[in-house]
Formats: sequence, structure tokens, C-alpha cells
Amino acid sequence: MALERTFSIIKPDATKRNLTGAIVKKFEDAGLRVVASKRIHLTMAQAGEFYKVHAERPFYGELCEFMASAPIVAQVLEGENAIAKNREVMGATNPADAAAGTIRAEFAESVGENSVHGSDAPETAAEEIAYFFSGLELVG
Ligand code: ADP
Repeated sequence: MALERTFSIIKPDATKRNLTGAIVKKFEDAGLRVVASKRIHLTMAQAGEFYKVHAERPFYGELCEFMASAPIVAQVLEGENAIAKNREVMGATNPADAAAGTIRAEFAESVGENSVHGSDAPETAAEEIAYFFSGLELVG
């Protein structure tokens, strides 16, 4: 299979607890390569735009406040089957349901403050990468 790229966020609960390196190690151990990375502090408007697909959900306001509460690390990960592989390494949305050894099982604090985001399909991966990075910033 050809190399694929996916978009990842290390969320505020994890950056606050100094878990960036531990989470990147999980990606690298799974065969994913970091081809772009930046630490940024989202505004409420930027967080709202990123998660606009959830705008009608009851947790949308809380989610945007959380995402704008501290820095995040936005990354592009590359590898074979990267989108599915990243979702596997992340674990289920709710850490209570996440398989042992996954990022969310080990690090997430709750269903909302769950340490990582990862694209769920090729179309969203392309959109999310383009929202955060220019082509010049992707270095394979
Ligand atoms: P995933 O991040 O696993 O793709 P979703 O797309 O369903 O999950 O949700 C996006 C994000 O919204 C989750 O990662 C989590 O931070 C937050 N979220 C999802 N469900 C809830 C909930 N029931 N309560 C609070 N926050 C939630």
C-alpha cells in the first residue's frame, strides 16, 4: 500500500501534563513518521471552526473551550495505512472503552479530555492538514 498521511492533534490535557514526547513515541513505535509538527494555542474561533462538524452536539461549547484552554501540538503523520493505524494507536473516544496500550487508555482523562485527535477518513485528513499546514511545511 502507498504511503498515506493523516492529521493529528495532541490536545491541551496532554500538553499541560508534558506528555507530548510520550505520545509521539507511540506514533513512531507504530511506524508513523512525523512529517510536520507545530505547537500552537488555538483561539475559540479557530477551535470552533476546526470542530464545526460537531456544532449541533451538546458538548460543542465545552469542546471548543477545552481545545482553546492551552497549547496543542498539530502534526501530520505519514505511513502505510496511516489514517486507520493512527486511530488504532489512539484508541476509542471514551478512555473507558479504549484498548490496553492505546494512547487514550494510558493518558486520557475523560471522554472530552482524551489527549489526541486523529482524522477519520482521507477527505477529512486532507481538509484538516490544509487547515493547519501549507505544503511547504510537510517534509517527508
Ligand atoms: P474522535 O475524536 O474519537 O474522532 P468524535 O469525533 O466522536 O471522536 O468527537 C470529537 C471529540 O469531541 C472527542 O475526541 C472528544 O474530545 C469530544 N467528545 C466526544 N463525545 C463527547 C462527549 N460525550 N462529551 C464530551 N466531549 C465529547
